[in-house]
This record gives sequence, C-alpha cells and structure tokens, in this order.
Amino acid sequence: MRIFKFGGASVKNAEGVRNVVKVLQTVGHENTLMVVSAMGKMTNAMEAVVNAYFKDEALLDEKIQFIADYHKGIINDLFEAKNHGIHHKLNKLIEEFRGFLLWNKSPKYGFVYDQVVGYGELISTAIVSAYLREIGIENEWLDVRELIKTDNAYREAKVDWEVTGSRIRSRIDTKKLNVTQGFLGSDENNFTTTLGREGSDYTAAILGYCLDADSVTIWKDVPGVLNADPRHFQETRKLEQISYREAIELAFYGASVIHPKTLQPLQRKGIPLFVKSFVDPRTSGTKVGKGVKISPDVPCFIVKKEQVLLKLSSLDFSFIVEDNISAIFRLFHEHRLKVDLIQNSAISFSVCLDNKFDGLKTLLPVLEERFKVVCHEGVSLYTIRHFDENAVESILNGYDVLVEQRGKETVQLVVK
Ligand code: ADP
Ligand code: ASP
Ligand code: MG
Repeated sequence: MRIFKFGGASVKNAEGVRNVVKVLQTVGHENTLMVVSAMGKMTNAMEAVVNAYFKDEALLDEKIQFIADYHKGIINDLFEAKNHGIHHKLNKLIEEFRGFLLWNKSPKYGFVYDQVVGYGELISTAIVSAYLREIGIENEWLDVRELIKTDNAYREAKVDWEVTGSRIRSRIDTKKLNVTQGFLGSDENNFTTTLGREGSDYTAAILGYCLDADSVTIWKDVPGVLNADPRHFQETRKLEQISYREAIELAFYGASVIHPKTLQPLQRKGIPLFVKSFVDPRTSGTKVGKGVKISPDVPCFIVKKEQVLLKLSSLDFSFIVEDNISAIFRLFHEHRLKVDLIQNSAISFSVCLDNKFDGLKTLLPVLEERFKVVCHEGVSLYTIRHFDENAVESILNGYDVLVEQRGKETVQLVVK
C-alpha cells in the first residue's frame, strides 16, 4: 500500500487535476490511497466564510458564492456533460454548510470553523474522484471523518490512535485506488474536527501508520525538500536524502514543506516519506528515512516571518526562575502562543513567539501586571541548521539582530 498526498497547489485548477491523473498514470495507481487537500487557496476562502459569519454577515453570501464559482469553473472545464452528477454534488455540499450556518446557535468560533472549513476538502475529493471515474479510473471515495477519530480540540484536534487504527484497518480496501480528504477527523459526537492548517501531510502519515504502508509520498510544486524555502531564498539545493530526525528538526523550526506532525508516526514504523515533484513525477525527489543524516551536507535555512519577540523582566529586580517561568509558559499555552525560542538571564526572559491564533492581545495585559514587558512585533526568526560562518553572514546582511542563539548544529537569529 502506498499513500499519496496531493496538496492544494496540485489541484488548484482543472489543469492541475488532469496533471494529478498524469502522475497516477506515470507511477501507477493500484494499492494506493490518495489524500487530497482543498483546491488552491480554498481553505483560506472557507475561513473567510467563517469570519464573515462571525463579524459581518452581510458578506456571507458573497464569500460562499466565490467558493461555488471557483469549483464550478473547474468542473465545467473537466466534465463535458452539463448535467453531470458532480454539479449536483457540488450544490449539495455548498448547501450543507450554508444550512449549518443558518441553524447553528453555537457562538464557539473553533467549533463553527471546523464544521465549515472542511468542505474545501469534501468538495475537492468529490471532484477528483468523479473525474477519475469519468476517465475510466475506478476508485473508492472515502469520508475520512469516519476513519480518523479525534478529541474535540477544534482547529487542532488530537488523534485517538486506537479507534482510528481499527477503523482504518477494517474499512479500507487496500487493493483499490482510494480517494480521501486530508486535514479532517471527527469527534465522539461525530462533529467534524480539523488537525491544524496544512494538516493533510499529517493525515497521510496517520493513514500510512495505521495501514503499515510501504511508503508515503507528498507531491509538491518543488523538486523535493530544498535547503531553503525558494520563496525567500534565491539559491537553493535539493536534499537527496535526510533522516527522520533531520526532517523533524527542519519542520519544527518552520520549513513549511512538511507539516511537523507528519514525521513521528512514520519514524515509529520506519515508513519512508518521499517528497516529489508533481510536475516531474519520474525524478527522485527527497527521501526521508532511516540512515543518512543529510545528503548533500549543506546548511539549511528556515525563516519564520511575522513573529513576536517578548522580553520580560521582573518589576523589582527579583529573579525570573522556575516558578515564574512555569507560570509564563502556562499563560502562553492558555493563549495558544507557540514558543519558537527562549533565552533567559537572572532577571529577564526573552521569548520568540508565533501568534498565529492571535492570543497576544489578551496575553499582554496579564503579563504586564507582573513583569516589565517589551514587545517587538513583526520580527523574523532565522534558523540555520548545519551552519558555517558564511551561512550566518549571508543572513545578517542589513538586519538588526535582536537575539542570537548558537548550538552545535543550529544557530537562530531573531532580526528586525
Ligand atoms: P501543498 O500544496 O502540498 O500544501 P505547500 O504550498 O504547503 O504545498 O508546500 C510547498 C511549498 O513549500 C513550496 O512551494 C515552497 O515554496 C515551500 N517551501 C518552504 N520551505 C521549503 C523547503 N525547505 N523545500 C521545499 N519547499 C519549501
Ligand atoms: N487545506 C488545508 C489547509 O490549507 C489542509 C492542507 O492543505 O494541508 O490548511
Ligand atoms: Mg499546504
């Protein structure tokens, strides 16, 4: 059994969907489970629906229409018959989440978000599955919410591995070509949950783990894992092979090519992960697996923009030690701020944070009651693995360094 994950970029338009078929035809599609994300930027568009619902209901219809039109355009391009069943399916799915928003009484953002946002995946997999059938490739469409069971921590649900494992093993016919959604699960009351943005890679790993897959392949618009994000760095090199450990480190520091949670389940069972180009499916891509640490052995650069640097110092010159530090961390956790880097001295404590859930606003007044707080928003955190001085110099160029931290393998710089 092989698991293939196709991300939003691979199915952003009709040409993309045709190319996915080409990939399947090139590398074969027996004993394969495809995990497909929402098309293009449709998850952002679904988020805009949820935001309109909570903040400006006058915009709701327009936001939903945008999603309907985007998919209709793709369907019209892919299917000749104007009355093909997929048109009806699309309308039905759109009306389902519109209906949910009409009768919903819950004021809970996370709950509503998860009930709505996953329609991006439900629609994309319906289209891909129908198109494969249309051109003669039999396949089984699976609702991943019936397979992956989670707790109800909406927007970042945790997998119940036991129930999930037995459902996946009993309900998937591994001889077929199966098509299912990334990103989604369901809680014990069968409400939809999501695994966190960009979570479809993780879905592929969950399925791979539970099915003891031979491999998991994520198909990307890049030739493999590069030593730097090509959107931010001009010169990049493809990594041929890296260890699970190296991949976990890169993903943890923010290399957005692989979702950080993806690696652990695969590492536990020694299942290789391939990152390959959907443009050029015959090329080798990157293999993540046992053995070789990193080849070629080059410095790897990761940047996280729009981070927050907080410097806390005690109001009365007292030490910042274990008890305050643990209280501070509890607050970060409660306000859903992710800690990227920590540095402390006797009376001050600096920390670089990712404010992706917007918890900073409510956190600051709480911290200011107990500490002197200096807050720099909009800083960038650069991480270089396997650094040398040239690599560090290439980053420093023109920036103001606010914090620098060096380990044996990794240097991190917070710059403005
Ligand atoms: P998907 O369509 O699967 O969701 P993403 O857009 O999330 O794909 O991930 C692919 C993108 O990740 C690439 O286009 C590239 O810009 C970016 N990226 C960031 N870091 C790296 C890296 N180290 N190697 C390759 N690509 C990277
Ligand atoms: N569609 C989801 C997102 O954009 C999940 C994924 O693509 O991995 O975050
Ligand atoms: Mg993505």
